[in-house]
Amino acid sequence: MAVERRVRLTEGDTMENGLRCPECGTYTTISDIIATGQCRRGGGRGECDVRLHVDVVVEG
Ligand SMILES: [Zn+2]
Repeated sequence: MAVERRVRLTEGDTMENGLRCPECGTYTTISDIIATGQCRRGGGRGECDVRLHVDVVVEG
C-alpha cells in the first residue's frame, strides 16, 4: 500500500515553471504533473515510480 506524504513547497522547489520532484529531484512543469500524475522521470522508463498530485491550499 502506498504511503502518502505531503510536502509544503518553498521557493527552492520551483524553477522556470518547474516543480522539483521530492523523490528524484527532476523539475517538471506543474501542468505536466497535473496531467500525468508523475514527474518527467516517471511513466515509460520507470526510473521514478512515485505518483504526484498538486493541491492548492485556500485560506480565508
Ligand atoms: Zn520523480
